[in-house]
Amino acid sequence: MNINNWERGVRRVVPYTPGEQPKDINVVKLNTNENPYPPCERVKKILENFDISEMRLYPQPDAGILVNAIAETYGVSRDKIFVGVGSDDVLSMAFLTFFNSEKAVLFPDITYSFYDVWADVYRIPYRTVPLDSDFRINPDDYITENGGIVFPNPNAPTGVLESVEMVEYIVKNNPDSVVIVDEAYIDFAGDGASCLPLIKKYDNLLVVQTFSKSRSMAGVRIGFAMGSEKLIKYMNDVKFSINSYTMNTLSQLCGAEALKDGEYFSKTVNKIVDTREYSKKKLSELGFGMIDSKSNFLFASPNGKSAGEVFEKLREKKIFVRYWDKPVIRDYLRITVGTAEQMDVLFKALKEIL
Ligand SMILES: *Cc1c(COP(=O)(O)O)cnc(C)c1O
Repeated sequence: MNINNWERGVRRVVPYTPGEQPKDINVVKLNTNENPYPPCERVKKILENFDISEMRLYPQPDAGILVNAIAETYGVSRDKIFVGVGSDDVLSMAFLTFFNSEKAVLFPDITYSFYDVWADVYRIPYRTVPLDSDFRINPDDYITENGGIVFPNPNAPTGVLESVEMVEYIVKNNPDSVVIVDEAYIDFAGDGASCLPLIKKYDNLLVVQTFSKSRSMAGVRIGFAMGSEKLIKYMNDVKFSINSYTMNTLSQLCGAEALKDGEYFSKTVNKIVDTREYSKKKLSELGFGMIDSKSNFLFASPNGKSAGEVFEKLREKKIFVRYWDKPVIRDYLRITVGTAEQMDVLFKALKEIL
């Protein structure tokens, strides 16, 4: 292929491949870890009562309304909170801000497939660290020279939860690096699973969460990070050097409002956790091997059958799950926990296929 001279100076990257968003609404969509339940009623009221003339104005650059609501909900002061357009935006800003050395950033070999993409686009050197045969992190692998550390907890796409003690061990033994814990699924992991309390003790720990999964708002794009004032100040300096008005007014209002209905939040999260446990039983009855997921998805292997084939056959039946034809994980399907009804459709289809 001939390359023009101007192309030699182009920043070329291999982009992240997001899960498919089919137009067909009849698809049983268990492929992108969305929440099967709608956001709370209060969000609907905000939209109904919104005065469109407000759209003339730029949004609050500091997303103040939303930051205040997060501060109240999590008992964290405002200057320890950063918000972004989904946690993908937050994580990307954190990579750009904190991973700025010649040393390699460390993350697991099986993990969220956006990390290596951000590292590539920002020219950050990195090294992946193998998980053990049970898909667990060996914390001592991270006690070595590095330019930063990032991992999800629970991990994606395995759903494995590591303890707060283990994360603390990594943070404590890396005082010279920033450690980012991506808690996209933490609300499904039960009380006491979050590393948030550790930010009081360690000024190099950034905890990232999202409204996309547990709060049913993937389409609104809200993510946030919590950490020491210093970390947040550095992130804001970078963010305001790129684009001040990233989060639109409506998203800020809807996000703040969603946080006010804690009862609905717990109810829907508990329903998903119940359906997850029910689904674990059903899948093992169907002969699947499984990782003990603490998230809103299951990482399951159709023992003796090709996961790729099962994926295709489910697709033909309009049931979408996620599959990666990659070493170590090519025997697994990642199945989002939907409603109990959706899961029953899946189990019926699997019975026919297997
Ligand atoms: C879903 C997900 C995110 C991104 O979520 P946003 O929709 O951008 O908030 C980040 N990290 C992990 C591990 C995820 O699974």
